Amino acid sequence: MSYATTNPYTGETVKTFANATDTEIAQTLDKAHAMFDAWKDVSVADRVKVLQKAADLLRKNHTEYAKILTLEMGKVIGEAEGEVELSAQILEYYVENAEKLLAPEKLPSKHPSYTDSWVEFVPQGILLVVEPWNFPYYQIVRIAAPQLAAGNVIILKHASNVPQCAAAFERLFREAGLPEGGFTNVYATRDQLKTIIEDPRVQGVALTGSEGAGAVVASQAGQALKKSTMELGGADAFVVLADADLDKAVQWAVTGRHWNAGQVCCSSKRIIVLDAIYDAFLAKYKAGVATLKAGDPMDPTTTLAPLSSQGAVDDLKAQVEKAVAHGAKVEAIGAEVPSKGAFFRPVLLSNVAEDNPARYWEFFGPVSQVIRAKDEADAVRIANDSPFGLGGSVFTTNIKHGVEVAQKISTGMVYINHPTGVAADLPFGGVRRSGYGRELVGFGIKEFVNHKLIAVT
Ligand code: NAP
Repeated sequence: MSYATTNPYTGETVKTFANATDTEIAQTLDKAHAMFDAWKDVSVADRVKVLQKAADLLRKNHTEYAKILTLEMGKVIGEAEGEVELSAQILEYYVENAEKLLAPEKLPSKHPSYTDSWVEFVPQGILLVVEPWNFPYYQIVRIAAPQLAAGNVIILKHASNVPQCAAAFERLFREAGLPEGGFTNVYATRDQLKTIIEDPRVQGVALTGSEGAGAVVASQAGQALKKSTMELGGADAFVVLADADLDKAVQWAVTGRHWNAGQVCCSSKRIIVLDAIYDAFLAKYKAGVATLKAGDPMDPTTTLAPLSSQGAVDDLKAQVEKAVAHGAKVEAIGAEVPSKGAFFRPVLLSNVAEDNPARYWEFFGPVSQVIRAKDEADAVRIANDSPFGLGGSVFTTNIKHGVEVAQKISTGMVYINHPTGVAADLPFGGVRRSGYGRELVGFGIKEFVNHKLIAVT
């Protein structure tokens, strides 16, 4: 693991960063602990002033922040600007709501001994957060905003290809007035992460990333008897019912599968279309994908970004080859992409039979599957035939019926007539191999606080 900025569009390694020393890790833990001692006694109203300032700074310098995202992981600049704004909105969500969400909850008891009883939400200490590169700011803020508001403090280990995004966020919080130790970025090694998790002052671990990383970090947290939340991969179903608005469904399917170059946990990875409209849908879908224009992600007219690295391209190619070796068919459906840079030409994977292991994988890039369903029951069965359970969508003009279908889909989130989305005021998270726990809104802020009962006789 070595921390470096490598521009995925040019392939050039712009800057490298040394791993943290063990002494730096020890000092980080000491400073975080000292900071927690003070921060836990600061009122929620005062804590969220830092979040408001951070939101203001993000908005004021949005272009500079957005450019670091595009430089390090290649997303198109318009999406980078969108991520900066969404991050500001999440900070502001907690400015507006943290006090209310953390207010003690009255729990009147029928037991004759207790005249009064309630639960208070008490901060616990240092949290380790391990984050992926696909939304470098949004992923940080999803955990940092609620947890700083709740009175916890954070040590961040970000993905090794976005070290400048990580450093930018540490600077942002310091500039917003958060004292040293409140939010520290460390270029930690795997061994150092284990040391941090085992430190008795650390109270929990929040990881967003792949199943592999989740399994390692969750087991280390389990060994140390620390709580963890895991936001892992997905293979979201995008179900198109026979009465769907076809053009709208196609347009959202193309976007849902290709925004962020297809590297989204909740991308529309399995598009499941009812037999009655399958052929018409597929023809329009292919035509839609063919219009995507790959190029410089800093150019606002580019609509298909490079992947985050050449390694990601190689891994995705290998996955597609394995799917084909197990009987799938592959067809290029996107336009040619530049030969230089970490580009992946969009493909359609078809004939992925139920005994093909690839049917159950996550393809993290522009690989489409458009699956024919016999009828609605078959569509629901295919949607649920996945080890993942993150999000999903149902497209229909009958909203009431769409909700009924959504209720049969076994995931953490289902959107009607929209790909699985993200919003500052809606929760995020999944079930099964997509992980456990929730981020954002009231669910997120309560993940790492002590739900402490006080009962009065
Ligand atoms: P990844 O390889 O699992 O990396 C995620 C983070 O975990 C990085 O900081 C990485 O550090 C660290 N890591 C990896 N292996 C580790 C280990 N053995 N021990 C400790 N830390 C480890 O995932 P990715 O490729 O960056 O991200 C893509 C995955 O994240 C996809 O599966 C995607 O679906 C998922 N994701 C989920 C959500 C969600 O909310 N559910 C959101 C976004 C992404 P290094 O970079 O140093 O290896």
